[in-house]
Amino acid sequence: MTARAPLALTLVLAACGAPTPEGPPDDTDAEDAPAARRRALVIGIDGLRPDGLTAAHTPVLDAWFAEGALVLDAQTQATSPTVSGPGWASILTGVETSRHAVIDNDTVTGRSADTPSFLQILTAQGHRTAVIAHWTGIPPLVGPDAGPVALAASDAAVGTQLAARLAADDDDCLFVHFDEVDGAGHGAGFSVDQPAYLAAIEGVDAALAATATWLDARTGEDWLVVMVTDHGGEGTGHGPRNDANIRIPQGVVAAGVSVTPPPQPSHLDVAPTVLHWLSDAPDLASFDGASWLP
Ligand SMILES: [Zn+2]
Repeated sequence: MTARAPLALTLVLAACGAPTPEGPPDDTDAEDAPAARRRALVIGIDGLRPDGLTAAHTPVLDAWFAEGALVLDAQTQATSPTVSGPGWASILTGVETSRHAVIDNDTVTGRSADTPSFLQILTAQGHRTAVIAHWTGIPPLVGPDAGPVALAASDAAVGTQLAARLAADDDDCLFVHFDEVDGAGHGAGFSVDQPAYLAAIEGVDAALAATATWLDARTGEDWLVVMVTDHGGEGTGHGPRNDANIRIPQGVVAAGVSVTPPPQPSHLDVAPTVLHWLSDAPDLASFDGASWLP
C-alpha cells in the first residue's frame, strides 16, 4: 500500500447533500430525502502481514481506507495458535477461542453454537447476507441458517463472483475470503522480499477493482467496508504466538462516520463493528472485541 491520493470520495460523500449552484444544501430537501440504506462488505485476506500490505501496490484498498482508519498493529485472537481455523472463527464470531471452541484447522466444524457468526446474527434479524470464500474451512465457520455461502476456485474468482453478486442481488452484508496471499506465503515466504507474496496481495486488490467501481456508482446507500486477516506469517509458515504471526493490518471505513480504533485493535472487532453498523439494537457487550464506530 503506497501513499497516494484517494481515488474516490464517493463512500463518504454519498451521505451528504449535493450542493446547489446557489449555495449549500437545502435543509428542507435533506429532511425530505429518504435515509440512506446501510450495507457492509467485509474483505478477508488470509495471511496478510502489515509490511506486505504497505509494500504492495494496492490502489483499490488505498482509496477505500484513506477515508477511514487503517492500522498496522492490530492483533489476532489472544489465545490459540495463529492458524486459520481459530483466526477466522474469532473474526466471524467476535469472541476468543475459549468461547467459540475452534482450536485448530481440524476443528472448524466444531464451532460452538453459543457463539454465532455475525452472518447468522444478521440473518436472524432479517438481513440478507452472502459469503464467497476460497478456503473450504470458511463455510462451517459461518455456520447454518445464514445466507448463501459460495466457494470460489481462485482469488480472481472471488472478485468476479463478488461483483456478480452485488449486481444481481440485494444483500445487506457480504463477507469474502481471499486465500492466495497465504498460499504465496507458504510457497515462497511471508516476506516483502518475496515477489510472489507481494504479487498475491496485488492480485487481491485487482480482484476488488470491479467492486470498487460498482460501490462508487451507488447512491442512496451508506457502505461500511472492512479489511481483515486471520494471521501474519514468517518464513514459510505461521502458528507460533509471536509478533510476526500475531500482528496484523486492519481497516474500517464507514460512509459519513468517523472511525476510531480501540487502544488495542483486534480482529475480534470485526463482528461487533459490522453489527453496530447494521443492527438496530446490537448486543455489543456479548463480544470480546470492540466496535470501531461511534
Ligand atoms: Zn490463514
